[in-house]
Order: sequence, then C-alpha cells, then structure tokens
Amino acid sequence: MKRDIKSFSLPELQQSLAALGEKPYRAAQIFRWLYGWSGEPKQVGVQAFDEMLNLGKALQEKLSEHFFISRLEPANETLSTEIESSQTLKFLFRLTDGKEIESVLIPNHTHGRERWTVCVSSQVGCALACTFCATGYMGFTRNLTAGEIVDQVAFIQSWLTLHLDKTVTNVVFMGMGEPLLNLDHCLEAADMLSSSDYAFQIAPSRITLSTSGIATGIRKLADLGVKYKLALSLHSAIEEKRAAMMPVTNEFSLAELRSALKHYYDRTKKEVFYEYTLLAGINDGAEDADALIRFSHTVPCKINLIDYNPIANIDFTRPAEARQEAFIQRLHDAGLTVTLRRSRGKDIDAACGQLATASRSEKKIVRPVHT
Ligand code: SAH
Ligand code: SF4
Repeated sequence: MKRDIKSFSLPELQQSLAALGEKPYRAAQIFRWLYGWSGEPKQVGVQAFDEMLNLGKALQEKLSEHFFISRLEPANETLSTEIESSQTLKFLFRLTDGKEIESVLIPNHTHGRERWTVCVSSQVGCALACTFCATGYMGFTRNLTAGEIVDQVAFIQSWLTLHLDKTVTNVVFMGMGEPLLNLDHCLEAADMLSSSDYAFQIAPSRITLSTSGIATGIRKLADLGVKYKLALSLHSAIEEKRAAMMPVTNEFSLAELRSALKHYYDRTKKEVFYEYTLLAGINDGAEDADALIRFSHTVPCKINLIDYNPIANIDFTRPAEARQEAFIQRLHDAGLTVTLRRSRGKDIDAACGQLATASRSEKKIVRPVHT
C-alpha cells in the first residue's frame, strides 16, 4: 500500500529511500519540494512527484509507486476572498483518513506592526476534558503527524499569498489538542516552520507551544533547550479549583508544575506565559488573584488574560467589567505584567477553546486516564 510521504520525518524518509536503493540526500530535496515555495502563483508545496524537477524521471516514478502526497482538504465555506484584513478566519480541514481539524488565522495590526498568526491543531480532539473547552468535549481521536501540523500553516500561507499577498508571521499551538502529549511531532513541525529550508521561516521566538500543564513535557522542553515560547494554561492557581476545571491537575499538581517551570527557567532562562480565562464567580475573586500572584513568583512570567468564549450548553460566563478590572488592578499592584486578550472571531466560532468539528454532535466526555 502506498504511504503518505508527508507522514515521514526527514530521517525516516532518508532510511526509506536507502531501503529502496536511493541516495539519502534525495530526502532533503523531496522535503524542499513538499514544503518550499513553488509554482506561479506562488504556493507552498507541490502536489505531484513529477513536479519535483531535480529528481529525474526514474525516481519520480519510483516515488509514485511507493508513496502518495497527502493534502489538507478545506471542508468549510469560510474561505471567502472578500475578507477584510482584520477578520479572524477559521479553516476546517479534512485529513486523508476523513477526520477533521480546525486552524484559525488571526490578523493583528497594532502599534504599526502587522502580524498574521496561525493557530494550529496538534491532535484530533483532546483527552484532557477541560470543562470550559469545546475540544475537551470531543474526546481524543489521534495525534497529528508533523506533516499535518505544518500543512495547516502551508495551506493558510498559500491562501494568504494568493488573496492578500501576506505572510504568516506567528504560529501558536493553541488549536485542538494538547501539544505536549504529541511533543515529538509538534517539535518536528516547529523545527520545519522555523527552518530556513522551507517557505515559512518563522523565527522560533514567534512560535508558541501552549500546554494545559503536562509537567513531564515541560521538563523535556527544558532539557532539549528549545527556543520556542512556552505558554501554560493556568486558569486557577488554587489546586482544588484548577482540578475541578482541568482534570489534568490530578495527574500533575500545581507543585509539580512549579518544579517543572523552575527547571525550565534554569535551563532556558526564558520567561513563561500564563493563560488565564476569567470565569465569573469561579476564578475571578481577590483570593484567586492572590493565588495567581504567589504562583507568579515561581519564574519570570507574563500573564495573558483571555476572554472566555462561550461554548454551547456550558454555563460559564465572563465576569462583569468592574470585577475584571479589580482582578487586573490587583495583579498590577503586585507588579505583574498583564495583557488582556479580547475575544476575536466569536461570530464564526473561531476563538480559543471553541474549536470542535462537526462530530461535535456526538459529544462525549472522556475523562483523562488518571481519574
Ligand atoms: N491544550 C493546550 C492548547 C490548546 S487550548 C492548552 O490547553 O493550553 C488553547 C487555549 O485556549 C488554552 O489556554 C485554553 O485554556 C484556552 N481555552 C480553552 N477553552 C476556552 C474558552 N472556552 N474560552 C477561552 N479560552 C479557552
Ligand atoms: Fe485539551 Fe487544551 Fe481544551 Fe484542555 S483547553 S481540553 S488541554 S485543548
């Protein structure tokens, strides 16, 4: 059976080619065709082996006997070319096995800077069942390959080039799934996105891995000395409250997270970003702010407050403006750096935590393994 050439890592493809009696350096050439610019109009990646011009006919044919080139199929209608350049766009993609994932393109033009951020999915669904997150209600289906992660950016980059003549500047692993439970593929993807060999060339400092708190993964990032940014979805610094919202806390306690973060900072000297979604009456009081302040003393950090994006049938709400202001003021008074990320893309269901595909109707809550 033919195998998807994009499901191979570069070393795996080298091995596979060697087994077919080909020179391993061909793998790097093939990867450049798969993830570099080509064609007119310019697009990322070719769709057929006979477009790989420097391989020669014999190898092109051999490749098409053994492999196929997968592509993400857009599965929604959001792809209007009439978009305003400030609009958040959701892309629903069908994978070769029919599963669906979502990615979001978030334009941000502030302080004279133009940013085009792509929010990528790392898994189909997610096993961690956070109570405020739509993906959490889907349960876990499978990990994405590095190729499937990179291809989300490739598709959107091609689309941006064609319609707006723009370039993806930032990538955040904040779509569906838990990146640190698919760490090898996520790092492989991030390495490709930041490599100078391919079309993207996104600086490592503009790539963010977001985790719900997989302490072992944080330690691994530290030990590998990765250059990507780390965001921790904290949402509460009070153990019982966090565990009630994020069952992953039962596996990795706040104490374990603090210890992993210290290790991360010791090794990388990089600050950490805490994501905190204010939920009215749940994590938005003075004692919550104080717990967050204490937690923030662990390592140098910044705090991103995210507006809660309502999800169907779940009755959390955002706090009133005054209560939110009081929370922020308390953090400011303690000397913390706080940014408030206003909800974007609400109208098209494309904001953080609202990513769930059509199979949403089969909603099931899968509790993580540890409970
Ligand atoms: N699994 C990873 C990355 C994907 S979730 C993680 O949890 O960090 C990306 C971000 O969206 C996380 O900070 C998550 O807590 C947040 N999020 C989830 N549901 C949300 C919602 N309904 N409103 C606002 N943010 C949400
Ligand atoms: Fe998974 Fe992150 Fe959603 Fe939690 S917030 S269920 S970890 S995707």
